Amino acid sequence: MGEFDLIERYFKRPARQAVLGVGDDCAILQPAPGTQLAISCDMLVEGRHFLSTVDPRLLGHKALAVNLSDLAACGARPLAFTLALALPRADDAWLAPFSQGLFALADAHGCELVGGDTTQGPLNICITVFGEVPVVEGRSQALLRSGAQAGDDLYVSGTLGDARLALDVFRGAVAVPGPVFAAARLRLESPTPRVALGLALRGIATAAIDVSDGLLGDLGHVLKQSGVGATVNTDVAITLVAARAYYSGAGTLFGTEIDQGQWLGWALAGGDDYELLFTAPASAREAVAAAARTSQTPVTRIGHIDSARGLRLVDGQGQPVPNTYTSFDHFA
Ligand code: ADP
Ligand code: MG
Repeated sequence: MGEFDLIERYFKRPARQAVLGVGDDCAILQPAPGTQLAISCDMLVEGRHFLSTVDPRLLGHKALAVNLSDLAACGARPLAFTLALALPRADDAWLAPFSQGLFALADAHGCELVGGDTTQGPLNICITVFGEVPVVEGRSQALLRSGAQAGDDLYVSGTLGDARLALDVFRGAVAVPGPVFAAARLRLESPTPRVALGLALRGIATAAIDVSDGLLGDLGHVLKQSGVGATVNTDVAITLVAARAYYSGAGTLFGTEIDQGQWLGWALAGGDDYELLFTAPASAREAVAAAARTSQTPVTRIGHIDSARGLRLVDGQGQPVPNTYTSFDHFA
């Protein structure tokens, strides 16, 4: 199978919304009048972002999911994407499930593949997504990192830390019961981009970011760009590790000992969660609850924004909790 057969067989489909899709020198998109394009690019490198043993169908899903997550964080509606793929060899047994996983998620979000590049080399997957954001009365509706205001509530969607728990099991750093691992592994290998929530939060959230490198690290970006500080309730955050439901408090079950600090580490600095972290004024609590309902996405209030810079962790009684958690950094 040559390069062009490969593209034809696995990646070329008739254009739907795009003016021109795969097959020419450029794809051509026509954004709706009164909208802006939101663009984001994310690369997955074997050995760095995924293990060579991962199911290619899940990898196809995840490669697009992490990109859709960025659109979600901006409140952008997915339109289209491009795929740059380096492959060691043209292998049907890999390409078929990879493209199926990719297109299943793409179709679920009405996001079409309009072009890309295919080359031989170490496995590397790079996707660029294009989304649409309306401009209302001259103002972009995009959710940015820079809009958090002192006094705002701080929220996170879904659960945190489970992907990191799965990674620690893969690395042999911790052992958990089979069902706990299975659920956590699904979060690592098949994350859910919170697109519907991002859209529902337009006009409500003051700032948003998706949690890819760990809650505290990503919150740090919002605080820096907004010029504010925050207080996070660790008693709330720790309940967001879904796998924790299998354990009673800080104790042990199934012969596995996992202490509070470890649970909290997963929740606060885990990474690969692809949940939305966002801020909204306290006056918008009902609107946030309605956005969570219409998007069928759970959200939890985990703290608030302060005018004093810096990040403070407190427990349920308001007592300070030392912050010893560091987020993921490729070059740290
Ligand atoms: P060019 O040489 O003009 O860059 P290519 O020969 O690389 O074009 O690609 C031919 C067509 O196939 C282009 O429309 C390109 O966007 C598309 N394409 C190449 N690789 C992929 C891919 N992995 N997924 C989707 N479209 C692709
Ligand atoms: Mg090319």
